Amino acid sequence: MKAFYDLHIHSCLSPCGDMDMTPNNLVNMAKLLGLDVIALTDHNSARNCGAAMAVGREIGLLVIPGMELTTSEDIHAVCLFPDLEKALAWNDYVDAHRIKIRNRAAIYGRQVIMDACDREVGEEEYLLLPATEIGIMDAYRRVKGFGGICYPAHIDRDSLSILSVLGEIDESCGFRTAELADLSKLDALRRQHPILERLNIITCSDAHYLENMREAANSLELPELSAEAVLTVLDTARKP
Ligand SMILES: [Zn+2]
Ligand SMILES: [Zn+2]
Repeated sequence: MKAFYDLHIHSCLSPCGDMDMTPNNLVNMAKLLGLDVIALTDHNSARNCGAAMAVGREIGLLVIPGMELTTSEDIHAVCLFPDLEKALAWNDYVDAHRIKIRNRAAIYGRQVIMDACDREVGEEEYLLLPATEIGIMDAYRRVKGFGGICYPAHIDRDSLSILSVLGEIDESCGFRTAELADLSKLDALRRQHPILERLNIITCSDAHYLENMREAANSLELPELSAEAVLTVLDTARKP
């Protein structure tokens, strides 16, 4: 089956995420836009995933629990998990391996944790943006150890991406997928980085505001609509 996806979306838990990106608002917006599957990927936290997944179950939209990890090199990588338990175990691991700088909400924005009724149930007190102690060469294997998958985010961006920081995607990182912000750059990037021939290429909104969420346009071919199926497809190397 063809499943329209957006696997990189932020909620009000990300300091840069709009307060209107509540679990109900973002999941319902995804449904309105015609998506079949989304992932919630807040910076260095998965603590709003449970609420978004509950909303998804209620309205019939698959929500995969995830996180946008900041590696020790300041590279962004998307991590996805088959279930909430595994995502939260990874969340705790990252929490123990990140720099704890108290968030200044007036400057960086609030980091609000919500329940499935969009009620505030907590606020993350340490800023979620800074680098963790987890290096990019090691990220895939560590996330795998928690039952998830990991791949570099928005590789075509001029900052906070694997290509802007390292200039290469090293084979030994183990990645099977790469996310591009702008698919029109793919041909040029493939000429420079032949490894991209063997990676699944996806593109996502990286929405921090409701108005940045995109109408369904990009799809994955899945055997069934489930988190496991999405993770398996993205973790299988592409035949060039
Ligand atoms: Zn990012
Ligand atoms: Zn992002």
